[in-house]
Amino acid sequence: MIEMKDVWKSYPNNVKAINGINITIKKGEFVYVVGPSGAGKSTFIKMMYREEKPTKGDILIDSVNLAKMKEKRIPYMRRKIGVVFQDFKLLPSLTVFENVAFALEVIEENPTVIKRKVMDVLDIVMLKNKARFLPTELSGGEQQRVAIARAIVNNPEVLIADEPTGNLDPDTAWGIMDILDDINHRGTTIVMATHNKDIVNTIKKRVVAIEGGRVVRDELRGSYGYET
Ligand code: ADP
Ligand code: ADP
Repeated sequence: MIEMKDVWKSYPNNVKAINGINITIKKGEFVYVVGPSGAGKSTFIKMMYREEKPTKGDILIDSVNLAKMKEKRIPYMRRKIGVVFQDFKLLPSLTVFENVAFALEVIEENPTVIKRKVMDVLDIVMLKNKARFLPTELSGGEQQRVAIARAIVNNPEVLIADEPTGNLDPDTAWGIMDILDDINHRGTTIVMATHNKDIVNTIKKRVVAIEGGRVVRDELRGSYGYET
């Protein structure tokens, strides 16, 4: 489902962020990406949704080669891949409903379908009763749940999360994990970069460790493996 073949990435300043990665992630897997700061985790993740393009190598998502994809195809590809960030990235002037509906409105779904799909995903993240709220009226955990709802409303094959619990207190972080686990059980493949040792060591999943732009460890039901 996701396949990287001999992938390399140098930034224009000559920093070699990714140095020959080969990896296969199967449909329905849940993968934690761990490693020290500067190891290349964000770059690895950004290449999976074509936020960054590899300098060399192939990245196949459902047999589509992201590395070779034309710019104009990127918006179509993004519908197959939901993304969640550490800092939520909600639009502050839009309500919860509108933030989630936005992704559907740009593809001109009809309003009845939009309403049903938005309320269905708000139900999954347990925020149906806050559909009219603005992001500033929500807690951090609730804002992240809105961001997750927005990421899954197009029913993507893959959900990519870059430190989704990084700005949240521990209790709230566990709540986010319950939701990601639920989404994974509904069939969505999840790739999540994280520094949260407790979560990785408790909710056991595949662990891919990156150091110096290479995969140095890849274990099913692995552990975090670093001190903090
Ligand atoms: P991590 O997410 O593990 O902290 P990153 O992928 O962010 O690692 O960074 C890997 C390396 O690439 C680091 O040396 C970082 O400074 C560098 N880097 C990341 N983004 C850029 C960029 N846009 N331009 C130049 N160098 C970058
Ligand atoms: P109710 O009308 O009882 O509040 P609904 O299920 O009709 O419940 O709507 C839930 C929320 O979604 C409400 O806040 C409603 O205003 C909002 N909503 C419904 N459709 C839209 C839309 N197209 N754009 C923005 N908000 C919407």
